[in-house]
Amino acid sequence: MIIQLEQNITASNKEKLNKKLEELNVKASDIVTQHHHYVIGIVSNEIDVRVIGEIEGVKDVFRVNDSYKLVSSKWKVDNTIINLGDGVTIGGKDFAIMAGPCSIENEEQVESIVKSLIKNNVKIMRGGVHKPRSSPYAFRGLGIDGLKMFYKTCNENGIKIITEVMQVSQIDEMIDFIDIFQVGARNTQNFNLLDALGKVDKPVMIKRGISGTIDELLQSAEYVFAAGNEKIILCERGIRTFENAYRNTFDINAIPILKEKSHLPVIADPSHGIGIRKHVSKIALASMVAGADGVIVEIHHEPEKAFSDGAQTLSFDEFDTLVEQFKILEQAV
Ligand code: PEP
Ligand code: MN
Repeated sequence: MIIQLEQNITASNKEKLNKKLEELNVKASDIVTQHHHYVIGIVSNEIDVRVIGEIEGVKDVFRVNDSYKLVSSKWKVDNTIINLGDGVTIGGKDFAIMAGPCSIENEEQVESIVKSLIKNNVKIMRGGVHKPRSSPYAFRGLGIDGLKMFYKTCNENGIKIITEVMQVSQIDEMIDFIDIFQVGARNTQNFNLLDALGKVDKPVMIKRGISGTIDELLQSAEYVFAAGNEKIILCERGIRTFENAYRNTFDINAIPILKEKSHLPVIADPSHGIGIRKHVSKIALASMVAGADGVIVEIHHEPEKAFSDGAQTLSFDEFDTLVEQFKILEQAV
């Protein structure tokens, strides 16, 4: 059960509510976010929610029996729109395109990619500076100095940044230089990280775990919300299955299902989703048809020389074509 409180509920009415919940054997947790105050009630027996709804200061009561609650569409019919400022939004009417390299490598690379984004009127650049790599000997990112360089160029050009945070200790040093924190597939169930990201006032995009279910992704999002941050984006990036003809099995089904189950924006990551450059654009376009709110794609001025994930990275020409195709397809859907 979700109990939404009025912003100005008095202490005595809140006390009345707490007493009533205790009487009804409801296990209650207070959730205070940037926007609202909620009480999540867990009940094992049927109760008449009207007796809660009539307490002064209670705005609304919703029955949500799923394992995730605040991220569920069962109580919030309006889709969440993430506002990055300067007219850049995710989850609104515009299809959001985020593009950039897998890893930030150097200033020349960032500058050339920013030019490609500007040319295509794309407002959000991706790029990792903390890279989760399967091998400890692979390139693991430029770290915080790389992020500052990345930020400087983007900031001068009005481009927003999404980049991965791998651990709690990185949040504070990164926060002034990013617009969206990305939680990678290997960290989807790092609950300490999710809790900590719930305490900051910056959007968080959570990727689906490598072998994660849709329900687990929604519960990870619930962690961030329950810790106080409502600005959450979900990302389908492919899962590990028995199929090995491509890097991951991009689960196109997850897009409409997530959109149905949750009010949060859903982004598709076709690059990691299929892992094969010549097919990335097709999966990106399919995601738009499936109802995604946007995509995150890897691009590079010289994909074959990229420090990481070159095999799934689009060239600038391929990216230009994809952006044009999105514009045409958008009319149809
Ligand atoms: C990435 O975005 O480059 C990345 C490492 O993604 P994922 O966590 O989905 O593997
Ligand atoms: Mn990558």
